[in-house]
Amino acid sequence: MTRPLAEIYDSIAENFAEAAIAIRIGPTTSPEPPEEALPDLPFTDTPVATSAPEKPHGSAAVCPAHGVEFVDGNFGLYCQQMSDDPEWSNAKGFCRITPKNAAIYMRKAVAAGKR
Ligand SMILES: [Zn+2]
Repeated sequence: MTRPLAEIYDSIAENFAEAAIAIRIGPTTSPEPPEEALPDLPFTDTPVATSAPEKPHGSAAVCPAHGVEFVDGNFGLYCQQMSDDPEWSNAKGFCRITPKNAAIYMRKAVAAGKR
């Protein structure tokens, strides 16, 4: 026995209506949202700031008379500045203070009341 045509249309219409609702509001039982995976960050002990001063700072690396860094030359570190101190300048008038004699210079400068 065949169903009346109207009944079949009703059935089709209901199915289309359900499909339309599902399209508009989505399935009534929405799946759980996927658990968001935490990014796999590598653990590290090294500090964030890894940049260290390239050149050492302090009296050992700076000419105490001129306040400039010693420059590495053929005979070691030296000061490139001209000096008006006859005791601490060479024949050409250049500063002859080096890291090795800077402490001596400082002692004499303090003793002479320059510092
Ligand atoms: Zn100097």
